[in-house]
Amino acid sequence: MTAFHEFELIEWIRSQGGTSHSDLLGIGDDTAILQPSANSELLLATDMLMEGTHFTFPPATPELAGRKALAVNLSDLAAMGGTPHSALVSLALPRSRGSEFAKSVMQGVMQLAAEFETQLAGGDTNSWDGPLVINVAILGTAAQSHSVKRSGAQPGDWIFVTGALGGSLGSHHLTFQPRVREAATLRETVTIKSMIDLSDGLASDLQHILKESGVGAVIRSQQIPISPLISTELSSAERLQKAISDGEDFELLFTVSPDEGQRLLKQNPLAIALTHLGEITAEQGAFLLQEDGSRISLKRSGWQHQL
Ligand code: ADP
Ligand code: MG
Repeated sequence: MTAFHEFELIEWIRSQGGTSHSDLLGIGDDTAILQPSANSELLLATDMLMEGTHFTFPPATPELAGRKALAVNLSDLAAMGGTPHSALVSLALPRSRGSEFAKSVMQGVMQLAAEFETQLAGGDTNSWDGPLVINVAILGTAAQSHSVKRSGAQPGDWIFVTGALGGSLGSHHLTFQPRVREAATLRETVTIKSMIDLSDGLASDLQHILKESGVGAVIRSQQIPISPLISTELSSAERLQKAISDGEDFELLFTVSPDEGQRLLKQNPLAIALTHLGEITAEQGAFLLQEDGSRISLKRSGWQHQL
């Protein structure tokens, strides 16, 4: 890359400091070097964000675009019950927007990385005549066999969700808090049997847990925590529909045994809402139990990225 003075930008990124772990050699060589500790699992994920699909300017700013690129990856780690360790950040920068823009994108990444003690381990910097593309690859850890999978749900488990659902695309999708700390607190309090982060919506993401675990679920419609971000001008049916199908909430959906569910209800260990939505069933399929007692099939109508 030439127009951006790639090396100056990389030197600037390096000079920003940030979290540095003693087991990782980060930016400056051809690869980063990690010395993994014994008895731990390494968790790896990557997510790519593209201007025009995952954010637009405005309402996004370069900082918020960079922030979101890391935040969605942190959310994936949270859903596995992992502790963030380090991240690689690859940029396709629009040539016309200059190096201040590039620095702002990286500032958004680095600020959130500092908040979650994630070391910037490296990346790649390129420019082109296309829009901004940011790819983050994240690495995290969990104590051996302590990572939480989608496949662990069992009949009788209680289904919980953190926070409130729906309305995220109004703007919250750029500023959401990845639930890393909440997942860690939950993991210390109870045995989480299965978990997923809600990126495509409750109706859609619940299906992943059901499919991987080979079970079904009943969700009670009155229990769904409808976000105040959803317009109160809509009918209650429309608000419910948005809460279960809007994407990008990045809340945690998880299951625990009924005993542990009772404990969570008695004393919520989180600073955010925790809602008991329903139960896992041996019978396959996902159902919404309505206020009048009728059961309707919960369709996989979650919001999905347009291709
Ligand atoms: P190479 O040509 O060997 O791939 P680069 O010049 O692309 O090396 O990168 C030099 C160093 O800077 C590497 O350690 C790389 O990981 C890091 N790096 C490049 N771009 C970024 C970025 N956007 N964020 C963090 N580190 C970066
Ligand atoms: Mg390179």
